[in-house]
Amino acid sequence: MYLGFVDMNAGFLIIIAALIIGMIARSKVTGTYNKFSRINTGRGLSGARMAREILDSYGLANIDIQQIGGQLTDHYDSRNSVLRLSQGVYSGTSVSSVGVAAHEAGHAVQDAMGYSPFKLRQKLVPVANLGSQLLFPLIIGGLFFHMTELYYIGASLYGAALLFQLVTLPVEFDASRRAVVYLEKSGSMSSDELTGVRKVLGAASMTYVAAALASLGQMVWLLLAGRRR
Ligand SMILES: [Zn+2]
Repeated sequence: MYLGFVDMNAGFLIIIAALIIGMIARSKVTGTYNKFSRINTGRGLSGARMAREILDSYGLANIDIQQIGGQLTDHYDSRNSVLRLSQGVYSGTSVSSVGVAAHEAGHAVQDAMGYSPFKLRQKLVPVANLGSQLLFPLIIGGLFFHMTELYYIGASLYGAALLFQLVTLPVEFDASRRAVVYLEKSGSMSSDELTGVRKVLGAASMTYVAAALASLGQMVWLLLAGRRR
């Protein structure tokens, strides 16, 4: 197997750029989240109560809100119709807590309204999970043992995983947009607090951009490696 220096460069440059963006994004998420965790909102609602208010305003009283362990583990589980919020977000009354809770409620609203990128993302979850488990054995087998079929199966699974990460982007940006629009229109927050929410959610979005970019770089590298063989 021989890889041309120029060909390898294209993939590697994207991977390295993604790694750097990823590192910056992760430290920025933690930093921004912690900073606005110390600033309480004037209204004083907890993240859980804010999320409840948003869900109820969309007629989604059927969606349960539960507390889970860990930090930044917050997510919406569409299969069980449950919004799971980490302890700090669930009971916290800070700009960060309310912002993250509103973002997660935004995912439930996407689900209820049949927002198409959300639906597509849900369909891709099992493929993306399968891909991440089988990817390396398949591709390593394909490339190093000259088993072309394995390489193609691996590359297809990888393509699906990449598509999953790309579809995640509009889903995440839209959930944040819905959160900010609701918080603004309902008068739940002052303009300073809203600026804080935008910063917290914007930093979180960057981690998804970095992850997608890293996958894109690996895919470019993979395709060039396959073509070279
Ligand atoms: Zn999200």
